[in-house]
Amino acid sequence: MSEERRFKGLGVSAGIAIGTAYVRESGAIEVAEYSIPPAEIGGELERLGVAVKRAQRQIGRLQTKARKMPGAAAEELGFLLEAYQQMLHNSRLVRGACERIKDECINAEAAVQREINAIAETFQAMDDAYIAARFDDIREVGNRLVLNLTRTPVRPFSSVPVGSIVIAEQLTPADMAQLDPGRVLGVATMLGGAESHTAIMARALRLPTVLGVPDLLEGVRSGEPVIVDGNVGQIAINPTPATVAETERQRDDYTAEARGLRRLRTLPAVSRDGTEIVLQANIELPIEMSMVAESGAEGIGLLRSEFMFMNREDLPTEEEQYEVIRDLVTAMHGQPVTIRSLDVGGDKALDPVTCEMDDSAASVLGLRGIRLSLAHADVLETQFRAMLQAANHGDVRILLPMVSTVSEVRQARALLKKAAAKLKRRRIKLSDSLPPLGVMIEVPGAALAADALAQASDFLAIGSNDLTMYTLAVDRANEHVAHLFDPLHPGVLRLIQFTAGAALRARIPLSICGEMAGDPRYTALLLGLGMRELSMTPARIARVKRRIREMDVIAASQRAELIMDQVDSGRIATLLDDFNALA
Ligand code: PEP
Ligand code: MG
Repeated sequence: MSEERRFKGLGVSAGIAIGTAYVRESGAIEVAEYSIPPAEIGGELERLGVAVKRAQRQIGRLQTKARKMPGAAAEELGFLLEAYQQMLHNSRLVRGACERIKDECINAEAAVQREINAIAETFQAMDDAYIAARFDDIREVGNRLVLNLTRTPVRPFSSVPVGSIVIAEQLTPADMAQLDPGRVLGVATMLGGAESHTAIMARALRLPTVLGVPDLLEGVRSGEPVIVDGNVGQIAINPTPATVAETERQRDDYTAEARGLRRLRTLPAVSRDGTEIVLQANIELPIEMSMVAESGAEGIGLLRSEFMFMNREDLPTEEEQYEVIRDLVTAMHGQPVTIRSLDVGGDKALDPVTCEMDDSAASVLGLRGIRLSLAHADVLETQFRAMLQAANHGDVRILLPMVSTVSEVRQARALLKKAAAKLKRRRIKLSDSLPPLGVMIEVPGAALAADALAQASDFLAIGSNDLTMYTLAVDRANEHVAHLFDPLHPGVLRLIQFTAGAALRARIPLSICGEMAGDPRYTALLLGLGMRELSMTPARIARVKRRIREMDVIAASQRAELIMDQVDSGRIATLLDDFNALA
């Protein structure tokens, strides 16, 4: 029997899971294989056709880039890419895959995979180095087709056995959205930072998760027993019976504590000296709504709308978006729901919006958030129309991500008015006043210009994840710099403090909805800096509420004043932890 092996990483989603490894091999493409009824053959051929067209466009873009390369490189790459294009035009690969869909009644990606394997067998029989290299080209094109196909909703994790711990080099937020918490118990990956959107998704799904584990894939095979401890960031492969027993004890303690916290659900979030705090929920997926009800949240402070655009080829229609948002708004029974417009870009490149773009266009410093939405005004206007109609069913607010200038807010407001006018022309009744339009403060320049932005908007919401990332130039999704991601850095705190002052001066509401808001360690500091509305993943509400109920806000303000005089984040951390320990 193999020995127990332990790995350390970043514990990004709390809880302990004991299960069986399901390893997604690096570079391998998950191909779900299933039979299709004859009536769906046409649809499957169409999916393959779309994947081929998309591959042609992708290679076309590479050809454009290649032409700009210096001399010989341009020529060499040009020949190769031209060969790839040929393979996408009625080649054996594409014809063979079509035949297999029709004759074998299987899904398109499985048909491509089987055809690649069949071609491999023919080529191997020839035993020739030149031909072997040509086969690599065919596999490259075939993989591209499979990747394009698997971006359509084929549920790549649908075959994960119940009780699995998913282990991978990297999972995107869209991959996470496809995990079924009924089958998957936990997650561990080699790459990823604690504030990445993948981590946020893991917390949303309440899956114990450890990211940024170097060498993980070398140490584990599918089927091996695994423990993921998201509380301390530890993985144990093939744990000994003693480790399993000890882990089970810790898991039971953690579950008992979580159960104990449930009694806080109906109690108010009021400090000992009588300050009322509004605690709201961040939502990434509709599946979380049951947890919102359990958590005692007083509304949704941040609805990340990206989930409606994930794992699909086409854009969601106005009607589709309206129905999803309406159901969420209705479920909140009149409590406020703050819906953020699409925040694509950075580690959230979403296919239907970014597939036509150059890789660098939607980078973290590129067309992200409101920038991308304003560049695709039709996408934003459709979102606005869906939100405006959903506002007929409850208390809706609209929030804009990644704003850096007042002009972006003005353009968005003009678009919101245009969307409302269009709906009225369609004789859809809307309330006389438009929903409040707010701005996320998550770019340092926006924080420094918060007074001006506050004049142009109806409320502000601090996104401390991106504010920390952009202020400190630390990629939130990069495990190598995870130790430098520090919301207690005096630079970040000054921007938060300045934003709070700007909201106060403009007399508009202010909330904070970055991960900082859901960590009880920071609660006293945030309250001390004047924050009265905190929005977080529902699972964290009880712990933050417990912290608020044992604290004096006046004492917290005095401690915040002392903290703001410091220049060193280590000293700030000590002052905060000492204050927390007094409780
Ligand atoms: C933030 O940046 O703090 C935030 C709440 O937005 P997101 O995490 O979705 O980027
Ligand atoms: Mg953000």
